[in-house]
Amino acid sequence: MTFITDFEAKVKKEAVKLVNISDKILVACSGGKDSTTILYLLKKWGYNVSALHVDLLMGAYSQGHVNNLTNFCKEQKIPLYIVNIREELGASMCYVRERIQSTTPMNNCMICGVIKRSILNKKAKELSANAIVTGHNRDDLAESIIMNVLMGNPRACMGLGSKSGVIESDLFAKRVKPLNYIAEDEIRRYSKEKNFPVIYDPCPCSHNAFRRFVKNLVTEYDLNQDNVIKLIKKIEPTINTKFKTNEVLKKCVNCGQATRNETCKSCEIIGLIKK
Ligand code: AMP
Ligand code: ZN
Repeated sequence: MTFITDFEAKVKKEAVKLVNISDKILVACSGGKDSTTILYLLKKWGYNVSALHVDLLMGAYSQGHVNNLTNFCKEQKIPLYIVNIREELGASMCYVRERIQSTTPMNNCMICGVIKRSILNKKAKELSANAIVTGHNRDDLAESIIMNVLMGNPRACMGLGSKSGVIESDLFAKRVKPLNYIAEDEIRRYSKEKNFPVIYDPCPCSHNAFRRFVKNLVTEYDLNQDNVIKLIKKIEPTINTKFKTNEVLKKCVNCGQATRNETCKSCEIIGLIKK
C-alpha cells in the first residue's frame, strides 16, 4: 500500500466509529493541516459536511486562513460558514485576551478555546448539525495527558477520548475527533502530498502556552506518545469510576448553552470583558 492509501484507510477506520452517513456534520476548520485533512476526507467519503471557521482577526495570519479556506471549500463544493469574532464579542481576539488578562490569570489558549467551543456549539444548533468534528491529533492527545498530569488534574483526562464530553446532553451536538490516534507527522505528510492550501505555522499567540512547552519536552526527549496514551487507557476505568457523575447540565441563563453552573464559561469570559 502507498502512504496515501494506508493513511486514508487508517483514518476511515476511526471515522466510521464516530460519525454516521446520515449525520449532518460541522467540521471546525482552523485553516490548518489537521482540520483541512479531515474535512477533505469526510467529503471524499460522501458524508454530509459543512465547514465552520472562526475568524479571530489576528492580522495577516487570520486573513491567510480565511483566504485559503474560502478557496478550498469553493473548489471542494463544501459550504463554509465564517464567524467573525468581532460580531460575536464586539472586539478582536487580541483585545479580548488583553482585557481579560488585566484582571484574571487565564492563558491565551484557554480564553480562545472556550470562546471557539461556544461559537461552534451555537452554530451547530443553528444549522441543525448533530456532529461537530475537530482536527485534534495524537500529538495533541499525548500532550493533553502530560499537561493534566503535571497540573494534577486527572479528571480532565475524561474528555480526551475520540468522543468528547463527559456528560451527554440534548443541549449540544456530539463532538468527535477522528484524528485522535493519528500522528501529527503523518497528517503533515498527507497534507503536503495533497498540496492542501494550509498555513503550517503555529498560532502566533500560542508562543507562551503551556502546551508549547510540553510539546518541546516531548520532542526534545523523544518521548514515546504511544506509551503515554496506553497508560491513560489503562487507568481510564479508575478515573471514570472516581469522577463519574450523573450531573444534569443546565441552560446558561444568558445564552442558553449547556453549563454546569448558572452561566457558561463563555458568558463568564464575555462578562470579564465588560467589567
Ligand atoms: P487548536 O486548539 O488550535 O490546536 O485546534 C484544535 C482544533 O480546533 C482544530 O483542529 C480545529 O478543528 C478547531 N479549531 C481551531 N481553531 C479554529 C478556528 N479558528 N475556527 C474553527 N475551528 C478551529
Ligand atoms: Zn452562556
